[in-house]
Formats: sequence, structure tokens, C-alpha cells
Amino acid sequence: MDIVIVGGGAGGLELATRLGRKLGRRKRATITLVDRNNTHLWKPLLHEVASGSLDSGVDALSYRAHAYNHHFRFKIGSLNSVDRTAKTVTLAPLLDEDGIEVLPRRTLHYDILVLALGSVTNDFGTPGVRENAFFLDAPAQAERFHAKLLNDLLRLNRRAEDEDGAVYRVAIVGGGATGVELSAELHNTFTAMKAYGLEGLRPEQLQISLVEAGPRILPALPERIAGAAHQELVQLGVNVMTNTAVAEAHHGRFLTREGEVIEADMLVWAAGVKVPDHFANMAGLETNRINQWLVRATLQASEDDFVYAIGDCAACTMPDGQRVPPRAQSAHQMATHVYRNILRQIAGDEELQDYRYVDHGSLVNLARYSTVGSLMGNLTSGSMKIEGRIARVMYVSLYRMHQVALHGWFRTGLCMLSDSINKVIRPRLKLH
Ligand SMILES: Cc1cc2nc3c(=O)[nH]c(=O)nc-3n(C[C@H](O)[C@H](O)[C@H](O)COP(=O)(O)OP(=O)(O)OC[C@H]3O[C@@H](n4cnc5c(N)ncnc54)[C@H](O)[C@@H]3O)c2cc1C
Repeated sequence: MDIVIVGGGAGGLELATRLGRKLGRRKRATITLVDRNNTHLWKPLLHEVASGSLDSGVDALSYRAHAYNHHFRFKIGSLNSVDRTAKTVTLAPLLDEDGIEVLPRRTLHYDILVLALGSVTNDFGTPGVRENAFFLDAPAQAERFHAKLLNDLLRLNRRAEDEDGAVYRVAIVGGGATGVELSAELHNTFTAMKAYGLEGLRPEQLQISLVEAGPRILPALPERIAGAAHQELVQLGVNVMTNTAVAEAHHGRFLTREGEVIEADMLVWAAGVKVPDHFANMAGLETNRINQWLVRATLQASEDDFVYAIGDCAACTMPDGQRVPPRAQSAHQMATHVYRNILRQIAGDEELQDYRYVDHGSLVNLARYSTVGSLMGNLTSGSMKIEGRIARVMYVSLYRMHQVALHGWFRTGLCMLSDSINKVIRPRLKLH
């Protein structure tokens, strides 16, 4: 029995780990995880990598080492196509930085295939965005962002010695959790850099514009929680621009539908998600308008019992007609559910169960300044507001739960200990 999981993110890596421990260890099945990268970094940490509050080199997990420890195989490569008749997936040739082939095109057989490819930022076809704005879809992008940020701050510090009015402008499109959290993280980095030799920087030199097309930021959160986050950002000096739709991006500026120009040294696009266009209707599997694979309640593809989709790339409709949101908690729950359904499918003596999304709430972390959110979304319609230290602990615990799924409780405890030690022996920011 060959089980192939494509995408080793929040959902796929947890699933491969659990299947490896259960089936791979006893050689009851061969579990293969495919990812285009060598290392895994939990995606909700990317804005912290971009701002420098997290060093991806410390937190990234090697797929190969993890596969070895958890009895599955790892193949590096990017999914090219799926042949559902032959039951194979094809991986594109792997090229090095100079474009020289490292590995040729490869074909893997599967009996059960799980698509867990995540999503990318949706630019909604807005002209100029791909060429001129930063996205936070992958660690390499976050690291490029961080390198530019450091260079820009060095330049600003140098300019501030000669010029009184020198400022650094960042324009972020998308008032969802990513845009909001990134705004606060950048403010934190800017103020902290003073301690690391950039004495010329003053908080008022940082001008962040957070641009949202809708009437308020954090539309997925209840209004009063979004209001609290809005207030906090305003206090940090962030210019929150609601009801402002960006129509074009150019080098160093966004142009709004009303013709307003938003100039910035750094343009960031964080508005909405989609699955990359080349996966639309791949292998005859049905997709929706943002290219997510349509799945039944069992999380099997709508027209194939042996293909599952989980996480951001799956379009799963709940009984009330709502779509399961693209979040880390959904990917985590779907991974657990598909793990159980695959065991049932292999055993063949039990019916597959329907997935039910449980909304544990949503939290937004504004760097060291504050954390706000709602808990138990399903039970309280998201109205149970929490903030402060408890909210921060809950926010961090989402990542800890991911670590527990990967490493177990004991090793997660060791990770927490090593994080505490790192706080003492490493600088607060990544400075290179
Ligand atoms: C900055 C940021 C902050 C966020 N904060 C939160 C938060 O606080 N709470 C929350 O619940 N959610 C948050 N999210 C959303 C959350 O990260 C996603 O919903 C979650 O990671 C989805 O998990 P996934 O397994 O579907 O995909 P991912 O975790 O994105 O994993 C997809 C994997 O597929 C691999 N892959 C992609 N394409 C290919 C290919 N062609 N071939 C091979 N491999 C491929 C990728 O390398 C990646 O490893 C945040 C997202 C971002 C960007």
C-alpha cells in the first residue's frame, strides 16, 4: 500500500508523521511525503521571519531527519501532474540555483493520494502586484523581505544623520490577520533596532499604511475584537485605511480605485488566498473559483475515493453551507480526520466518517504590544473576547499543538526549554 502526501505544511506534515508512526513503522504501508522545500517552517510564523523576530534557521525542521525518525519517506520536488488512471503523481525536475538539473522528472505510484499543497496569496489579477509587491507565502520570500528591511533600515539610519525628515514607508494591502500582525511586528522591529546600533531611528520615522478594501480590518473576527486591534494599531501610529481598494501597483507605489497614490519604500500584498492557477481542474478533479479541490464531507475528492485534500487547498462545505476557513487549525483538524479515515479505508470494515470543523476561535498577536481574539467560535459565535497574557498563551499554544503533533509532548517540552534558552543567549531580533 503506497500512501503519497503532497505538501508538508501545517496539515501534510502532521498527517505523514501520524501515518508513519502507525503504518510505516510496522511496514503496513509506505508513506511518502513530497515537498518542494527541504525544510518545514509553520506558515503562521512567516511574518515573524520577515520582521526578524524569528530566525527561520533555528525553527525550521528538516523533512529528511523528521521522516527518518517517524518512518516515512521524503521526496523533494514540486508536484507537476496527477494521473488518476495510472495512479501516479509526477514531480518536476529539481534544479539548483544556476538552473542545472539536480534530479530529473520523477513519477511516484500511489494507492491513496493526499493533496495538502496549501495556498498562495491572491493578487486578484491586480496589475503590477506580482512584479512590485512582497508576498509572505514561503520562507524564502519572508527571508528576502527581512534582508531588504535590514538594508532599508541601515540606509534610513545613515540618512537620518543628515536629514531631519527622513522616513521609512511600508504599505501593506490586506487587513486580515497577516497584514495586522505584520504591521505590529514591523513597529516592534523598528523600535528594537535602536538597541542594536541604529541609534538614528525614531519611531515616528516609520510610516505604515494598512490598506483594506472592506469597511473594517479583521473581517473574520467579531466587530469589537477587530475594533480593539484597530485601536491598538492606531496607537502604534499605523495609518489604517479602510474602504480603500487598490487597483494597480507600480515600483514604490500603489494606486487606489479612487486614484489616490500610496507611496512606500516597501510594498506588501497580503489580501486573500488561492491555490496556484496551474492546479485548476488538475487530473479532472473539480475545483472552485480559487482553485481549491472540492471535497466531500469525508475529505475525499468529489469524484475519487482514493484522493483526499486537506488544509487551504481543500474546499470543504460544512452542513450550514459555510466553507471551512483556510487556517492552521483547520489544516490540523483535517489532518487528524484524514488519518482516521485512511485507517478505516485500509481496514475496509468501517464507514468513513464526516469531518466537522470545530472553531476554537481566532487570535491576533500584535507583537509584544497585545494579543486579542475570540475563543470557542462554534459555541459562542466568536463573541467571547480574550486579550492580554491569556490570549498570548492561547496564541502560542496553537504552534505548540502543531509541535506536539510532530514531536510528541516530551520533545515539545524540550523545544520550549530551548526557546527559553535562546531568548537568553540570542539577540531579540535576527540581525543578519
Ligand atoms: C503570515 C501568515 C500568518 C498566519 N497566521 C495564522 C494564524 O495565526 N492562525 C491560523 O490559524 N492560520 C494562520 N495562517 C494561515 C495558515 O498558515 C494556513 O491556513 C495553514 O498553514 C494551511 O496549512 P496547509 O497544510 O494547508 O498548507 P501550508 O502550511 O501552506 O503547507 C503547504 C505545503 O505545500 C508545499 N507545496 C506547495 N506547493 C507545492 C508543490 N507544487 N509541490 C510540492 N509541495 C508544495 C509547501 O512548500 C508547504 O510546505 C497564517 C498564514 C500566513 C501566511
